[in-house]
Amino acid sequence: MQHDEPDTQEQWCFDVDGTLVDSFDAQHVRPLVVELFVAIQRAGHAIHVWSAGGIAHARTVLERHGLAHHVTDVHDKVPGADGRWQLPDALVESPNVVCVDDQPDRLPSTTRVVGVFPYLQPNPHDRDLAPALANLAERAATPSSLS
Ligand SMILES: [Mg+2]
Repeated sequence: MQHDEPDTQEQWCFDVDGTLVDSFDAQHVRPLVVELFVAIQRAGHAIHVWSAGGIAHARTVLERHGLAHHVTDVHDKVPGADGRWQLPDALVESPNVVCVDDQPDRLPSTTRVVGVFPYLQPNPHDRDLAPALANLAERAATPSSLS
């Protein structure tokens, strides 16, 4: 057993269709996705992607848009007994899971939820990820009292 400081690393878990890319044909990345991915990594957190369309679909979309190198792992979205998506095994034990999703109602109740409007088609003015990005920037600017 380790007895070090509390686990503050966040596991960010992104939905694919309607969240990272448009839900029409997945050909368009939502504005600020890359900026948010970079900020999450700079803060020392991990990025996961999961999709009800399956792992292969998620990988295809990430490769298509040059996003795969940001992502630690890709998972299937599988419904649990309560009808909500079950966290992938890799994330079940993590105390700090942040889910970004355009259909937040089915997210596991134990996670921090960042809901976004469904990204239906290309929209360069979409700013739904801006609050999450600003929140990371604020926290990065606040020195930890433990250091
Ligand atoms: Mg979706």
